[in-house]
Amino acid sequence: HRLSTAAIEELIIPPVQVNYTKLLINGQFVDAASGKTFPTLDPRTGEVIAHVAEADSEDINRAVSAARKAFDEGPWPKMTAYERSRILLRFADLVEKHSDELAALETWNNGKPFEQAAKAELPLFVRLFHYYAGWADKIHGLTAPADGPYHVQTLHEPIGVAGQIIPWNFPLIMFAWKVGPALACGNTIVLKAAEQTPLTALYVAKLFHEHNLAKIQADAMPEHYEAELEINDFPQNARWKAGLPPGVLNIVPGYGPTAGAALARHMDVDKIAFTGSTDTGKVVLELAAKSNLKPVTLELGGKSPFIVCEDADVDKAVELAHFALFFNQGQCCCAGSRTFVHERVYDEFLEKSKARALRRTVGDPFKKGIEQGPQIDGEQFEKILRYIRSGVESSATLECGGGRLGSKGFYIQPTVFSGVQDHMLIAKDEIFGPVQSILKFNDLDDVIRRANATRYGLAAGVFTNNLDTANTLSRALRAGTVWINCFDVFDAAIPFGGYKMSGIGREKGIYSLHNYLQVKSVVTPLKNPAW
Ligand code: NAD
Repeated sequence: HRLSTAAIEELIIPPVQVNYTKLLINGQFVDAASGKTFPTLDPRTGEVIAHVAEADSEDINRAVSAARKAFDEGPWPKMTAYERSRILLRFADLVEKHSDELAALETWNNGKPFEQAAKAELPLFVRLFHYYAGWADKIHGLTAPADGPYHVQTLHEPIGVAGQIIPWNFPLIMFAWKVGPALACGNTIVLKAAEQTPLTALYVAKLFHEHNLAKIQADAMPEHYEAELEINDFPQNARWKAGLPPGVLNIVPGYGPTAGAALARHMDVDKIAFTGSTDTGKVVLELAAKSNLKPVTLELGGKSPFIVCEDADVDKAVELAHFALFFNQGQCCCAGSRTFVHERVYDEFLEKSKARALRRTVGDPFKKGIEQGPQIDGEQFEKILRYIRSGVESSATLECGGGRLGSKGFYIQPTVFSGVQDHMLIAKDEIFGPVQSILKFNDLDDVIRRANATRYGLAAGVFTNNLDTANTLSRALRAGTVWINCFDVFDAAIPFGGYKMSGIGREKGIYSLHNYLQVKSVVTPLKNPAW
């Protein structure tokens, strides 16, 4: 379970080893009820990193019971919001302290460049928990006017037990988007990590539970006073302890059709949040509807347009369009995977995009300066190669790339297609890989119509210096996010989610709180309505 240091060149990486491979239920690491495990792989080689406990419906039942108890009996939802906020802040600080180790583990399990994990994703993770810690004590209802003699107020209450299912492309960031707002609102959680990438979720969940047990036991205090004690009585020792009470956050790695489905259809889960493919999102919605009608938020696939207008600075547009597609090995739900380029700048854009893709550094994600690591697994790798073949067969022009890189692991050459037509499969389906499709357009109405002619609506990119063009496109495009002259800006306060079949609801920002709150109206008669 140790990361081989021979593979780590030029970067100083802390020694990483896998300590947590079991299910985390009620604050304890436990084996699966069946005793089964599944292998989790290193995408650089396809070799096994560790065997992880495989949750199935019985384990989901155990985890949901723990979360239910922690919700119904407290202390979590009954603590002061300030106390919850302090725990979230301490957790974020603790993750910051362990950032390099976590980034290394993320790279090892996912294949993303270490520099990206360390410099972008860990800081975003920490920032997100600071952000939601800030919200915890600012959630409140309102008073409403009534026509009759009544005083009307609303209470914003946590929903209860939240089931959360996350994918493998950003294991830590997806954890933060789901767990941050749910905990800030006072819910308890059962989270199913993706089967490909369970390791960092288990690691951070362990950090969440660290507390001053020795001190507390010495003082013979009841268990549920842990958090309070740490805040008030042991500030020195509490500094690097988070102290989440047991049962509030349960982590159950396992497969989708077993563990994931058991969570989605569980009668005692009050809300389900899912990120992944549109097909699986439909299954989750159906399971929720057929069980207890739990509310569902879905963050699904995309086929986002990136529109390069005629006035664009071509060099800058090439770089941004390249980033919009190739970032994270192309494994982004919001990837700018249809690059529409105005005919006036098309030839120059194409030539430079090809040159940029050929310059892209692909290799061991632990090496310095590497922009692209391996794809997540053999299944995705094969699927991407199939799409590349389909592009060639549908007579798009393969400008560069198109094949596997090296002989082991799941590396794919940065690939660029030109002359892509709207009807081609590579222009319609989510490829989720390093394959850029370049399409030509001639006027704004044409590109608006074509950009919107998709079942998806997650994001869009616009590259222009013309304010009117930017305003027109940002209003006309049917997408949850429009990035103008930028892409993949993911600050904690910016809501994210999809139109059409890209999903239901918004994550991040203030909007995410609504996913995890119930609104209760409390109506009382006014004795003296004149006042
Ligand atoms: P997926 O949607 O099947 O998996 C995402 C999560 O859902 C995982 O945790 C998985 O275990 C779980 N899941 C799978 N089947 C389930 C079920 N029946 N009930 C409940 N949960 C279930 O995605 P995948 O198979 O990993 O990848 C397939 C495609 O999905 C990719 O090629 C890509 O196009 C897309 N994808 C999108 C995102 C995104 O961020 N929107 C992330 C990953 C994958």
